[in-house]
Amino acid sequence: MKNDQLPIGRRSVLRLAAGLGVTVAAGAFALDRFGPGDTAGEGTPAAPQGPPAAAGPPASSPRLRPSAYRLQPMTAYAPAGRPRALPPVRRRPFLSLTGVGRTMVLTFDDGPDPRYTPDILATLRQYDCRAMFFVCGEMAVANPDLLREMADDGHVVGNHSWSHPLVPKLRPSRIRDELGSTSEVVERTLGAAPLWYRAPYGAWNRHSFEIGAELGMEPLAWSVDTLDWKEPGTGTIVRRVLDGAGPGVIVLSHDAGGNRSQSVAALRRYLPALLDQGYAVTVPRR
Ligand SMILES: [Zn+2]
Repeated sequence: MKNDQLPIGRRSVLRLAAGLGVTVAAGAFALDRFGPGDTAGEGTPAAPQGPPAAAGPPASSPRLRPSAYRLQPMTAYAPAGRPRALPPVRRRPFLSLTGVGRTMVLTFDDGPDPRYTPDILATLRQYDCRAMFFVCGEMAVANPDLLREMADDGHVVGNHSWSHPLVPKLRPSRIRDELGSTSEVVERTLGAAPLWYRAPYGAWNRHSFEIGAELGMEPLAWSVDTLDWKEPGTGTIVRRVLDGAGPGVIVLSHDAGGNRSQSVAALRRYLPALLDQGYAVTVPRR
């Protein structure tokens, strides 16, 4: 099931863009044996995901009680199943794969959400494709079965913080709570801690890179933003994916955080179109 995963390497060629006064995704990401010559994904550098309220944390849902986790800080958490060697502390997130041919990575953030995630999983299953889900801890703890379904289908479950805060506004101890608690929930549910994380709103800072590395995770951003959280219409989301398609492109979409019915419907259209164009839709492996 995981044969189609891509090996990650050590070399990265990244560029920096400033925004929100912090490091924001922009540039290229090279995996092992993949050089900087392949610039796929650089044409559409990622940008901050709009105002926090619009893409906001799912904490507004009354059934979610992020305060519950705050009563049980897990600052001592360390992944039991950590890789043999912790990743280096990055200065920028990975933004795309290079040198992987007609391979693309689809990523879905903010879930799992029982209203939308099952449909996304079903579509991926229908086409036998793997994707990455960057989950929020407070959503994951409420939907462990969906987390297990992701893993059972061979998808990669990444860490998207516990409550979707703007990380650069947090003290390091809070960043560690946000990332550590989420990794702990994923590990407790799946038996393995996440190997990837993504900062909410694409807003990273030095502490998040350091803490992510301590927890055994690599930072992953994106190269094509569907802006699906703005609900631009299914056709617009489809067009953004297909217009942005290219070797090594990482696509950002959402399966939670608002009404994601357009995101669900769009996947049903652009996924078979990508496959028809000869793209392999898969996930990186570490
Ligand atoms: Zn998010």
